[in-house]
Order: sequence, then C-alpha cells, then structure tokens
Amino acid sequence: VRSTTTLLLTLVLGLSGCTERHPAVVRLLPDGIEEEPLELGRVSRMAFSPPAEGQVHLRFRCPHDGSSLWLGCGLTGKRGSATFRAWLRSSAGDSQLVFNHTAAPGKWFEGVVDLSSCSGRAVELVLHSKQRGVAATAAYWATPTMVAAEVDRPSVLLICIDSLRADHLGCYGYSRSTSPTLDSLASRGCLFSRAIAQSSWTLPSHASLFTSLYVKSHGVDSGRTALRPDADTLAEILRRNGYLTAAFVTAPTLTPQFGLAQGFDLYDARCSGRDAAEIYGDRTNPCVHRGAVQWLRRWGNAPFFIFLHYWDVHFDYNPPAPYDTLFDPEYRGTFDGKDFLEDDRIRPGLPARDLEHLVALYDGEIAHTDRYLGMLFAEIRRLGLGANTHVIVTSDHGDEFLEHGAKGHGHTLFQELIHVPLIWVEAGRNSGPATVERPVRAIDIGPTILDLLGLSVPPTMEGRSLVGLMRHQAREQTLIFAELSAIKGTRERLSAALFGESKVIRSALTGELRAYDLKSDAGELHPLEPEQLDHGSALREALTRFLGDESLRLEVRVVGTGGKRFLLKLTSADSLTRIDTYELEPNDWFAVTHEGRSVELRPDCTPGDIDGLTLCLPSDTTSFTLAVRLDGRPISPAHVILGRGVRARSTPLVCRGADRRLQGHPTIAPDVPGVYVWTSRERKQQTTGAPHELDDELRDQLTKLGYLR
Ligand SMILES: [Zn+2]
Repeated sequence: VRSTTTLLLTLVLGLSGCTERHPAVVRLLPDGIEEEPLELGRVSRMAFSPPAEGQVHLRFRCPHDGSSLWLGCGLTGKRGSATFRAWLRSSAGDSQLVFNHTAAPGKWFEGVVDLSSCSGRAVELVLHSKQRGVAATAAYWATPTMVAAEVDRPSVLLICIDSLRADHLGCYGYSRSTSPTLDSLASRGCLFSRAIAQSSWTLPSHASLFTSLYVKSHGVDSGRTALRPDADTLAEILRRNGYLTAAFVTAPTLTPQFGLAQGFDLYDARCSGRDAAEIYGDRTNPCVHRGAVQWLRRWGNAPFFIFLHYWDVHFDYNPPAPYDTLFDPEYRGTFDGKDFLEDDRIRPGLPARDLEHLVALYDGEIAHTDRYLGMLFAEIRRLGLGANTHVIVTSDHGDEFLEHGAKGHGHTLFQELIHVPLIWVEAGRNSGPATVERPVRAIDIGPTILDLLGLSVPPTMEGRSLVGLMRHQAREQTLIFAELSAIKGTRERLSAALFGESKVIRSALTGELRAYDLKSDAGELHPLEPEQLDHGSALREALTRFLGDESLRLEVRVVGTGGKRFLLKLTSADSLTRIDTYELEPNDWFAVTHEGRSVELRPDCTPGDIDGLTLCLPSDTTSFTLAVRLDGRPISPAHVILGRGVRARSTPLVCRGADRRLQGHPTIAPDVPGVYVWTSRERKQQTTGAPHELDDELRDQLTKLGYLR
C-alpha cells in the first residue's frame, strides 16, 4: 500500500487549467491521513478512520461532465452503532445532506451522489461520523471516489478459473467440447500454449499473479501467511494510475485476511462464504457472475481493472444438470464427485471406469463455468465495453487425477498442476488466432498488463512483459521457476526449473533432483539425472542460484581456553557459495583455498571466546570433510559436538549437508574447549504478514481443504 500523493497530485493538476481534462477516477483523501484495506463481512475496501473529532472536510471542484461521487462507510467490532452523514457545501454556504446512514458493525454501506447539480463549481464535502457504544476508531469511511465516464483508456478484465488444467480445454487440444466460449475467445486473440503457474495451490499462486513475484520473494506460502502490506500489487499500481479496481473472489484462501485485497477499491469475497454456498446450491459461478455484472453495469464506463475468480472447477465436482451427465451419461457407478478429497476410495487402484467418471464431472464443471463466461462476455458486449477491454483468462493451478498416484493439487509441481491456460484478447485488436509456444509465467501477466496500458513496469517485478511475444517478436527463452512449500502440513519444499522442454524438480527434504524431458516424457513418469537432459546441468545450477538465499548453512564454532592452539580445515566437494566470519578478530587467521572449496581457520582463542565461520553449501548433497588439530594433534571426537549436542564418532568428520546428525542447534558451553558443527537453513527473510484473525467459518473451510491443521 502506497500513499495516495500521486492521485492527489493528479487531482490538483486536473483542476489547474480549464483546458485540462478531468481524470475519470479521483479519490478524495484528507491531508495526512493514510488509507488501508479494511475488511467487513468478507468485503474489503480502501478506507480511513476519521480524526478523533469525527469531522472531515474535503474541498474539490465538481467536474463538468456528469460525474458521480461514491461514498461508503462501516463499523468494525461486534457491538454498538454509528451514524455517518455527508454534506455537500457550496462556496455560497448552502449545505445539502447527501448521505445519511446508521451502521451496525461488520458490514459496508454505500451510496452514490449525482454531482451534476454542482457541475463546474468548487464545493466542500463534509463527512461526519458519530458512534454509540464503541470507540471512535471503530468508524471508517471508505475513500470517497469521484467517477466519470471515459472512453479513451482501455480497461482490464482478468479472469482466473481456479484448478483449470490447460489440457482440458478445446483450444488446447482436448477431445471434449468443454469450452466453446474460451475457444472462441482464443480464436480472436493470443493463446499461450505453455503458461506455467508459479505454485500449485491457490494462495501462493494468486500472490504471484498479483505481485509478479516468485513465491520465495513474496513469502506467502501457507494458510498462516499473508501478503505483507508494503508489497506493491498490480491493483495498487493501476489504482494509482487512475483505474477503478474491483475483485470478486470465491475461494476461502483468497479472503481479505490474506492480504491480496491491497489496492482494490472493492474486494468482494462474499461468494466464498457458506451463505453464498447455500443460496446457490454449493455453486459459486452464479454468485460471482451476479456481483461482476452489477459492478460493470454501474462502473464499466470508467477505466477499470476487474479481477474475477471462479471456483466451481475446484473440487468437489458436482456440476448442475445438464453438466453432471454431459460427458458421461452412461455411468451407473457410485461416484458422484462429492467429498473428492475425503473419499479414500479415490487412490491408485481405483477402477478406470470410476476415474473416467470423475474426470467427466470435472469437465462438466469446466463446461458450466464456460457457459457463465459466455454470459459475462455477452453482457460486456451489451454494455458496449467489448472493444475497449483487455480480456485475460488463466488459472492458478491444475488438478491431478492419479497421474502420479495422488489427487487434487498443492502436493507436486508436475505439469498437470502447473501447466495452466492463458488466453489474451487485446482491447480493440482482433489479432487472433495466434499461438505463442514459448513457455511463459503467471508472473508475466502483471507486467504485460502494465505494458499494454502504457504504464512502466516497476523493476521490483520479477516477471516481464509478453507484448513482444504477442506481436510475434523474437525473444530469448525464459527460465521458469515454480515453488511449493508447507505441503499439506509436511516440511517438504519442492522447487522446479523449466527451460524449453527440459525440467528439473528438487526436493528440499532429500536434496534429490529429478530431471524430465517433456518432449519424450510429457507425463513426467521417467525421471532422469540432470546430466542426461538437454540443459540439465544448467538447470540444476540455475535452480541452485534461484534458491541461493535459502541454501544450507554450515555453522562452525570454536570455543577456546587460553593456550590451546586450534587449526581447522574444511574441504567441500563443491565450491562453497558463501563464507561469513563469526566474531573473528585481527589475531584470528583464516584463508580460503582450492577455488573456494577449502577453508582453513586458526583462531586465537582467549578463554570464553567463541570464534567461527558460517559456510553456505551449494546443496544438501554436498559432502565435506572437517579436520581439526588441537595443539598439533588430531582432536578427539569427544571434543567435536554436532547439532543438538551429539558427539562425533570419529575424526576427521566426513558428512553430507543433509546429514541428520548436523541438524539442530547445540548448546555451546563457553568454558569447555571444543568445536561445534551444525546446519541451519536460512531463507531470505521476507517479512510476511500473518493473516488477521481467522473466524470459525474460515478456519473450518481451510481445514477441510487441507490448508490448515
Ligand atoms: Zn486454486
């Protein structure tokens, strides 16, 4: 979240001259007050708490064109009430009450003021709030926003269909007719045949989509993490540049608690709640459709960025008629697509006929969602917004149907989970059908949107614009990474690197690296050694560099008592990636030799002194030897203490980084001379926010999906 200085400046510039066009979207924020995303009842808005006296004065000039002023208010907490009033006051002093609402806690209230009566005149907006039975800080105004129609600037519609595998769409070569709407969309635009999501479950994948950062950079990788407030999101950038921003999301893992609401004037997650599920018979397509269409009818004439998230393709697979029998009308078995995760019968060995039926139900959900997209696009055409809106359709990950012995998603980085659709129709440009076969990333979507809108891409974004590829310009291949951690409660972390048809997947738990040639082994069933693969060694190195900031750290500490002369020599099989000293002083001597594979340390240990080194090993599998001499003789193993206090069995110590004996942090006794050796894994510390309190309903939902334990 950044300050709104830019927008206020835009407002000032917009008013400075008569010939200057008034921007279509202007937010009115009192001086010195910061807005922040605030959630009430699963709806987040950019809001501020008024100063203690409860009165805010905002002076501005009413635009000449028929603008409207949007106002919203809400009360946090569980009890009490507050009255919110707003007046428009002319320079002549007459006041008009334009907003009057008594609010109960936990819900937003909104109203729209027609500004045509004050057209061209300077006015003052007076906001007043008075609360009963609650602290003054519980009352919030959503940032008042003036909106006018503007046809010149293109808008953006970004759609994510949760859990949608690319290979189950007609335009990606699927045999079933699951996607007539998307096929037709692809025929008018650009289809990226090999788009890769940056993770394989909803939350980290969306955090990457919204920030154009890899998971290791944004740090949102479990149900207990949230995007940090200082992250700069696509919605924030577009909002700063005069776009009205809205999101309608339907996943419990996308509720505002997870920090993804930053920069959205409206972030509506009500469709993810149980009430919505009950109203719509456990289907969310009608709910998100209704919200989106209402919003577009009201605000579609201003430059907008709207994000729509459809959830029904996500398990359970229970599409309504006729989609429940559309692709498998003959089935007479017992599977109905419900309790997909909990049903233990769905595992390797499941009769092929039943598996076929589950896939047919999944395909039915896709067809059902495709029909809703058809209705949405028809509405956009009816509103006359079609030609001026960039339309992007993608997914956050796929789903597995026992291809690698499991089901669902969020447990591997195989292609069925990270190969997602990406279809792009540029505003005012019927360029299709065009296909880009170069592999691209979900983190490239944000920079591409900015590039198409003529906005600069912040250097902090890790993705890059695809506009050149869409215009058939040659470009070098991109290295692509995907990551997955905190897998369903385990300590496993997977990371994958792709280049062309080559892919490697690394397990952090075992250090194992598996390589796949996607050309000859599209199903990733025959792992190779990286050296057997085109670019395999380069991919391994690239992955090591990518993960460099979470590499394994080998800690070595020496505790001396006066007069003891230590000499340590550590030799590693691979070059050490980094060497840091610990408390070394000029009298301590150390040297790095053998092209960074060997380090010698001769500490000058005074009593109670702890000297040492921190060495980063390139991978868990790197082996090393540590030889220690004490007063010229090899040290006794009893004086070499490993992680959690275990003593070495022999010296010199010969280990691999992943050695279990090294894990943990021994307690160092400063009065007993000896050498302490242990490993730690330090990731680049991204301060990740923690989600605001999860209510019982959300906690249940996340637990049921397997994201909380
Ligand atoms: Zn998802």
